[in-house]
Amino acid sequence: MAWEPIRKTRHQAVQPNLADYEGECREFSWQAARRSLDGLPGGQGLNIAHEAVDRHMGTPRSDQAALRCVGKDDKVTELTYRDLYVATNRFANVLRELGVGKGERVFTLLGRVPDLYVTVLGALKNLSVLSPLFSAFGPEPIRERLYLGDGRVLVTTPEFYVRKIAAIRESLPGLKHVLVTGVGPTPEGTLPLAELTAAARGEFDIPPTDPEDMALLHFTSGTTGRPKGAVHVHEAVVAHHLTAAYALDLRSPDVFWCTADPGWVTGMSYGVIAPLSLGLVLVADAGEFDSRRWYRVLQEQGVTVWYTSPTALRMLMRAGDALAGGYDLSRLRFIASVGEPLNPEVAVWGLRALGLPVHDNWWQTETGAIMISNYAAMDIKPGSMGRPLPGIDAVLLERGEDGRALVTDGHVRVIEEAGVDGELALRPGWPSMFRGYLGEQERYIKAFAGGWYLSGDIARNDKDGYFWFVARADDVIKSAGHLIGPFEVESVLMEHPAVAEAGVIGKPDPVAGELVKAFVTLNSGFEPAEKLRLELIAFGRRRLGAVAPKEIAFDQNLPHTRSGKVMRRLLKARELGFPEGDLSTLERPARKPGDQGDRRPSC
Ligand code: ATP
Ligand code: MG
Repeated sequence: MAWEPIRKTRHQAVQPNLADYEGECREFSWQAARRSLDGLPGGQGLNIAHEAVDRHMGTPRSDQAALRCVGKDDKVTELTYRDLYVATNRFANVLRELGVGKGERVFTLLGRVPDLYVTVLGALKNLSVLSPLFSAFGPEPIRERLYLGDGRVLVTTPEFYVRKIAAIRESLPGLKHVLVTGVGPTPEGTLPLAELTAAARGEFDIPPTDPEDMALLHFTSGTTGRPKGAVHVHEAVVAHHLTAAYALDLRSPDVFWCTADPGWVTGMSYGVIAPLSLGLVLVADAGEFDSRRWYRVLQEQGVTVWYTSPTALRMLMRAGDALAGGYDLSRLRFIASVGEPLNPEVAVWGLRALGLPVHDNWWQTETGAIMISNYAAMDIKPGSMGRPLPGIDAVLLERGEDGRALVTDGHVRVIEEAGVDGELALRPGWPSMFRGYLGEQERYIKAFAGGWYLSGDIARNDKDGYFWFVARADDVIKSAGHLIGPFEVESVLMEHPAVAEAGVIGKPDPVAGELVKAFVTLNSGFEPAEKLRLELIAFGRRRLGAVAPKEIAFDQNLPHTRSGKVMRRLLKARELGFPEGDLSTLERPARKPGDQGDRRPSC
């Protein structure tokens, strides 16, 4: 089906200065962009926490809400910018008094609670490096990351400590201090965060900060294997700030909610830093995914821009139009989505059931900020990721036998014509570009060729400059001479009323090389049956022709990464009886068919 573009209407439009995408791109320079931030007083550099918190002091914003945390019990805790300023100063002093210095690693294992935001920003004030852990990780992935990242301090809850840390503590001699939240007795070997902060001074002068000082250590989602630790620096805040204004159209007095877990890059760049740097009200929900709950939070908090993931949107879609129509979402201007391909079906559903455009955008842990997006005022082409943001030079590179960019004597070739698949590559130089994979210099060097950063994703673009995601380079299926992106096949299957979600892999075949096999999760009301299987195969063939799946299996528990992506490599390993590889980022399976278990879609 050719999807009609979604035209942006006037009421959804946006800051007047953002209405002109072409003009903005023409005028843009990162040098000028840096001037939109303050820098530390006295020209002492650039610090993320200063831009997120301190610079609002002495402005009318200082006594406005910065953070509204909705607790699991629905109780809302509100912190003003001034509250955040004092609390982060106190925490920075706690670190200083513990002797934790510049560049030392502070990890968090916390849900979306006020202590998380205070820890992140307080650590950055102290020039320590912050590394957030996904709170649903079990002991092994936690141990691996604390070890790889040389964690010196961990801030967590007493419950997490007892359940996940106590048993691995011995194997982490570098972990000097574990601070636990809450009141009451603390587990042996830990320090009480609340007591220490209460005793600390509420003033803290951020030391001079070189924009190149390391600030954040983010582990990737591990979709394709062992997670990598991407190093980010304080200068990244320039990109967080501006891309949020451009791609998410954020400006005061927006009320912004980003559902991504703070353990992933989205939850940090846009779930903490960018909205605060713009002086907005940041909403955080400590609860688990539940369609009713999420609609309620959107309504009760008066959210104006919502940033979430395709998995979450697919779940809302699955919960039905009637539910969607039962809430007052009139303050919401649009929804933005990231983390994996946004099926055109979902974008169209958003408009139909919620009356809201869904803006896809593309980026990676490595890029630190949104790179390609349905810019605020741009028409949306369902299924497309949008266009590169101002200041971002994105191209497609010709590919070689292995499916990745073809590098000959250090040179690569940029594809000039529209509609041809190539490896998506970016010209380095934007502020939130990662500065390395921790301890893996060779891997880092390999991510560049011919002056481009190679993303590992395959895409194509059209004559209007919109980019379309095809596949991760290592997911591409080669069948009977065709190159097939699993996403396209999955999206078509999802258009069938029975299919809620699909995961597609290439299965070795002596004749075709690989044949396309799909695993599908059914919507409630549908049961796995041979008749339905044949119907889906026929449906695929009608819609996709030669690239349609030849085999379809029902699977109510498709494996997902913790950050919400279908884990195709695991589907494939299981299918072929291969070892399952690194599963540290595998989401726990749902408890029973149709039940979403504890899955927390985030990106
Ligand atoms: P790893 O690098 O460890 O295998 P990962 O690539 O999943 O894990 P992230 O950095 O969290 O780790 O995810 C970035 C990837 O997510 C992108 O390279 C792309 O494959 C996918 N992605 C993100 N946004 C989109 C989008 N809008 N459309 C399609 N794919 C997307
Ligand atoms: Mg990746």
